[in-house]
Amino acid sequence: SRSKVLSVQLVSYGDQQMLVLSRDVTQVEKLERMRRDFIANVSHELKTPLTVLSGFLETFRDLPLSKEQQAEYLNLMYTQANRMQNLVEDLLALSALESSPSAESGELVDLSGIAQKTGDEAQQLSGGKHDIRVEVETGLFAMGNTAEIFSAFSNIVTNAIRYTPERGKISIALRKTENEIGKSCAAFVVQDTGIGVSAEHIPRLTERFYRVDRSRSRESGGTGLGLAIVKHVVQRHDGELDIQSRPNAGSTFTILMPLAKLEAAPKSAAAQIT
Ligand code: ADP
Repeated sequence: SRSKVLSVQLVSYGDQQMLVLSRDVTQVEKLERMRRDFIANVSHELKTPLTVLSGFLETFRDLPLSKEQQAEYLNLMYTQANRMQNLVEDLLALSALESSPSAESGELVDLSGIAQKTGDEAQQLSGGKHDIRVEVETGLFAMGNTAEIFSAFSNIVTNAIRYTPERGKISIALRKTENEIGKSCAAFVVQDTGIGVSAEHIPRLTERFYRVDRSRSRESGGTGLGLAIVKHVVQRHDGELDIQSRPNAGSTFTILMPLAKLEAAPKSAAAQIT
């Protein structure tokens, strides 16, 4: 990518004149550093589970193991393979988001259906360990990409479960509202009574691989890419992401999505709404 031209000057040099362009190289350097950091992060994240996996495989090959030990080792190996799989899936999702054009003129997306589905998923994922409330206003639609919006909602909900201890409360809601400039929106609000984060972390949570507690995130299957994906999806849909959080008190993640103008919706879709 080219750097921005900061200034253009006409300079006299003896009897010659020349144009001097000064460019903002700091921006280029910053992008280059981000790219290098990203590759280093990806390599590290893949290397760790691979090292553990080969270690177990070696033991499996070289040592006599009892049936119970074998079962235990296979489980541990499976966990590591799963980690790599999650990471590669999230990387593919991110790169697809970055390489395709904005989702604005997509399909009619049933936000209410998606919110309800993530609520059901939350119940399943929690396995009864949390007190989960789901309150979804029906008939809310946006224009865009259903799979993307589902992955954004689902990431937020998965995090709420991941970072809320047992018996904590999680509320998942979708309701009609307006954004700051009075545009009709749906607000997807996920509130938890979990571990929370302190204020200085909040602006950085959507950075790739930024994690407040690396080991907690890993143990619970996190890749550190979830909120980066959420941010991309929200931006592509002209939405907004808001994060409120307090350590040991809990967090509230809100996604605002502009509502579809229903009179412009295709007949078949409009028929489903009534
Ligand atoms: P991860 O896969 O690590 O969960 P995310 O990008 O989804 O990655 O989130 C980045 C970090 O933000 C997490 O590692 C965690 O520190 C913090 N975080 C996200 N959601 C919550 C939440 N509901 N409560 C507390 N911390 C959270």
